Amino acid sequence: MTSVPQNDRATWLQGPAAECDLPKPLLRPFRLILLGPPGVGKGTQAELLGKELEACHLSTGDVFRAAARGGYELSPAMAEAIAYMRRGALVPDSIVWKMVQERIACLHCGGGFILDGFPRTLAQAEALKSLLEGEHIPLTAVVCYELSEKEIVARLSGRRTCGQCRSVCHIVDRPPRVADICDRCGGTLFQREDDRPEAIKVRLEAYRESTAPLISFYRDAGMLLRVPAEGSPDDILRRTLNGLQVIQTK
Ligand code: AMP
Repeated sequence: MTSVPQNDRATWLQGPAAECDLPKPLLRPFRLILLGPPGVGKGTQAELLGKELEACHLSTGDVFRAAARGGYELSPAMAEAIAYMRRGALVPDSIVWKMVQERIACLHCGGGFILDGFPRTLAQAEALKSLLEGEHIPLTAVVCYELSEKEIVARLSGRRTCGQCRSVCHIVDRPPRVADICDRCGGTLFQREDDRPEAIKVRLEAYRESTAPLISFYRDAGMLLRVPAEGSPDDILRRTLNGLQVIQTK
């Protein structure tokens, strides 16, 4: 696997006032949306795909989590968004859309993008569609990861994140060498508030109700690439890259 220097995502994570060290524009940038239930591994795949395709991983959840970690004054809308996130509920469309619009430069990025966790409702998908069409930004594909609900609950409840470097492990599938300590940097591992059982239930319900309808929305638009999400992250990455190659050669 090639290792490409990663964009620091400053503009995406901190908002338009922050400037990224922009990657050089690519001839055929990949512009992807990742779909699939929470816990299916979209974040991990977005990271891996980002390295392979030199595209930036744009996660709306990461923006809310970065805001929740603090360090700067929160707007009332952002404070409201964080309260929704902590319960595992979807943040209202108006707040999410404003946040994405403020970061429109990231959608124009010459390195492409990998949207993870956005859009998550039909209203968000419609708004994104008109924005991309209006700005002449063509999507490459919408990758939909598929996994059984039993496996999803197991993945989410065992997931632990490093408080320092943000890397993710799993207490059963990829356990750290020392309990509760990050293998990569020695930081302390914690469980995301929204990975607790009560919040997982709410998140899966929100997915079934609000996000699952996007599968037919993008299938009807001829954009959908279905990828089974069983196996290791590398297996899933290979399947995704193979599927994207087929799309690119069409
Ligand atoms: P994620 O990391 O994508 O699972 O997002 C974590 C949480 O952030 C979600 O459970 C929601 O509360 C909130 N969130 C992230 N993206 C969106 C979105 N596009 N629409 C609504 N809520 C979102």
